[in-house]
Amino acid sequence: MNLRVLVLTRIIPVFVLALLSLGLGSVLLMNDAVSQKQTSLVTALARSFSAQLQQFHSTAQAGAELLARSTEFSAYSSARERHMRMSAEQLRGNAPETDDTEKDLLALFNRVFDGYPHFDQIQLLDSAGATLLAADREWLGTRHTDSGRDTGGPAIPMSASTNRTGMLPDALRSAVINSKQPFFVEYALQQGTPSMFLVYRRTNPQHWEGEHHYFIFTSKLTPVTNLAAQHSELDGVNFLLLSANDQPLFGASENADLVAYFMQNHGSLTTDGDAHIVNVSGQSLLYVATSLSGNKLITFTRQRPRNDINSQLSILALIVTALAVTVCVFLTTFFINRLVALPIRQLARDVRSTADGENVSLKKDYAAVEINQLAATFEKVLTAEHEARSQIQNMAYFDALTGLANRRLFATYLARIVASAQRSNASLAVMFIDLDNFKFINDSYGHHFGDRVLVEFAERIKNTVRTSDLVSFLGESDAAQSIARLAGDEFAVLLTSLEDNFSAAVVAERLLENAREPIVFEGQVVHIEASIGIAVFPDDASGPQQLIQHADAAMYHAKVSGKNTYCFFSQDISNKLARQRNIQQALRHALLEDEFELLFQPYVNRGEHRIIGAEILLRWNSKLLGAIPPQEFIPVAESTGIIKEIDAWLVSKALELLNHWGHKGYPDINLSINISAAEMRNLSFPGFVAASLKGYTIEPRRIEFEITETKLVDYDERSLDIFSRLKDTGVTLILDDFGKGFTSLNQLKDLPVHRLKIDQDYVAEIATKSGHLQIVDVILLLSHSYQLSATAEGVEQLHQVAYLEEAGCDYLQGFYFSAPLSLEQLTALLDTRQLVLPSGEQQASADAVHTASSK
Ligand code: C2E
Ligand code: CA
Ligand code: CA
Repeated sequence: MNLRVLVLTRIIPVFVLALLSLGLGSVLLMNDAVSQKQTSLVTALARSFSAQLQQFHSTAQAGAELLARSTEFSAYSSARERHMRMSAEQLRGNAPETDDTEKDLLALFNRVFDGYPHFDQIQLLDSAGATLLAADREWLGTRHTDSGRDTGGPAIPMSASTNRTGMLPDALRSAVINSKQPFFVEYALQQGTPSMFLVYRRTNPQHWEGEHHYFIFTSKLTPVTNLAAQHSELDGVNFLLLSANDQPLFGASENADLVAYFMQNHGSLTTDGDAHIVNVSGQSLLYVATSLSGNKLITFTRQRPRNDINSQLSILALIVTALAVTVCVFLTTFFINRLVALPIRQLARDVRSTADGENVSLKKDYAAVEINQLAATFEKVLTAEHEARSQIQNMAYFDALTGLANRRLFATYLARIVASAQRSNASLAVMFIDLDNFKFINDSYGHHFGDRVLVEFAERIKNTVRTSDLVSFLGESDAAQSIARLAGDEFAVLLTSLEDNFSAAVVAERLLENAREPIVFEGQVVHIEASIGIAVFPDDASGPQQLIQHADAAMYHAKVSGKNTYCFFSQDISNKLARQRNIQQALRHALLEDEFELLFQPYVNRGEHRIIGAEILLRWNSKLLGAIPPQEFIPVAESTGIIKEIDAWLVSKALELLNHWGHKGYPDINLSINISAAEMRNLSFPGFVAASLKGYTIEPRRIEFEITETKLVDYDERSLDIFSRLKDTGVTLILDDFGKGFTSLNQLKDLPVHRLKIDQDYVAEIATKSGHLQIVDVILLLSHSYQLSATAEGVEQLHQVAYLEEAGCDYLQGFYFSAPLSLEQLTALLDTRQLVLPSGEQQASADAVHTASSK
């Protein structure tokens, strides 16, 4: 998941949730504040309403007292009493005496209006509840009777007064009469302005025993309702006033259900003047109950539903939240991108290009300390990696021991230089250097010493080449690539500024001279010698690879011509190389085309001269190249690896023959096969031999392997293991050309071989006169002391036979007994059972065969 997606899906939701809950919280808080405000408003309204009512009450009481104690009321009530006592006749005759007192009383009413501006009407009722007088603020001087009949004077016309607030409804009228309370109020739900009636019963014992009058003061409730209306935050304020005996005195509510509820439940309401919440048929009501002179005033309003309390505010809060969320998402992604994602991507690019390139530097400013730290860490890692890489590169291109370029680097460098020489028609030379006696040094003084010699020799090459002006170094790197260690004790030098071939010879001579300086190491002194081959471009080669090959061939020539010298590549060498190439190609078909022929040279035992066995010698008649001697094609076969197929073929041929002879009843003879020393490094060879032997009932010892001592490179663990595994198969192992190689006494002791074959050179050296020690004597002594048998090869003369037999040589082989024979010749010999060569004819036979074979 990339960073941006991660931020969007993991981090931003956290912000968003936080912001949303903040928004929600603020909406709730606002709602809370609103409902608190509502509560306090309702409470305040209830208080002021209550205060207002209290004021109405006390002023009405005061007004009633004033009226009741006034002389006008006394006069009126006296006149009325008199009038009541009069008969109908008396009444008719007497002009209405009460009219004046009525007028006076109405005038007093009017004065009361002046003092109490909130009263709208004052009425006087008799004890039966009939209206005696009614004064209206606008309709002063009105008189009413129970029958509604006009009693004269200014009066409200009945038709009009019925519609007026001044007319008491019947219910109120009876309530007034029945009430024992001095004060009560009633709310008249007549059309128009809600009003309040404040009623006072006044007993006047002076005039009427037990008769009462009632003063009713009417006050409009407009101030109160106006007060409620001022507060638009409230949905509407409702009032309910209950009398002491729980009669509803007035109720201002458009909702009868709510009124009914408070009517039923007023007993359980707390009249503490504080706001309370009740739930009535699904809606919450906010009420304040107060007691008012024994009455109970309930002020209530519908509590605003939450979502309704201030939906606009809520929407605003939500919009703000949404905006905040958007901004937060944008800013977070922007900054994450800017501060983290982009710098990291940039860093990744830098690391990649740094890793690819040479230059290791990530010192940049990546916008954040952490990323800079990361860059620094990367730089460390990259530097280490770079070092490791260059180390590996060094290992791949430079020789670890001498520090010189290796074959690979030298080859690439040479290819480049040859290409540029081709373009500029310049000439250059490759010197191929091989130490002459390195194997000897290694074997005699150990590998440690050998390594030392190589390092020292490398140093000498460098010094020699540096002091010459034949290498036009462009820089240190060219110098490093111009001198190489190709393998083991093989070195190469590239000379680039060549005036003529002679100048290359000068360098070679100087190098040989420098090499001759003795090397002293750990108390030992050694002299090193080298053979050098030189090939020149473009004279001797057409390309870089051929240039090395030809220098190598020239070096080989230097070795052949006596070592410790240098040799230029020549036409002669070139021809030899061409011949080698031809042989190489022709060899590929030799086995398939059956071009090989086998010769057999018998060997005899001491004294008896009975044929004990025969050595198989290979002949090749190439269809393309004619007869090629083994000395010429065996080395080529070895260098190409074809020799392994030849060896295997010889093993199976030898086994077939022995098997065949066994079936024919020939006497047992042994067959020797010359196998390549390369098999001593071939781990699968012993297995192959064992498997081949399994197919026959032949005694394994009758198969003899001759391994040329000089060609054995090393007696290391591997070759010794192969030797002993071969020995385990039961075959006979012979060290051929013994005496020419470097097998030490120590090695011979551990070497699992059965026989030594004395090299024919030493046999040839056997002097006619006996008396002083010959090399053959040493070898024979050696073989006998290690319980090994010995063969002498190349025995040509009788005195050699005599000497060797005298010295105790077990087997003899050579032209004296028989030259290599064809299979027919050999089988003829076996057929005639001519196993023992007649000693009288020895010389003659030898000479005859000799001349035959050399033809
Ligand atoms: P070698 O193994 O030392 O073989 C003896 C060589 O001396 C043979 O030469 C043989 O013909 C020659 N010879 C034998 N008796 C006398 C003698 O009395 N006087 C003289 N002057 N020479 C004598 P050839 O057959 O030409 O073989 C030369 C070498 O080629 C062999 O030397 C051996 O190293 C190699 N070779 C021959 N055949 C094979 C083979 O089948 N496999 C391998 N790997 N090498 C072979
Ligand atoms: Ca041999
Ligand atoms: Ca030999």
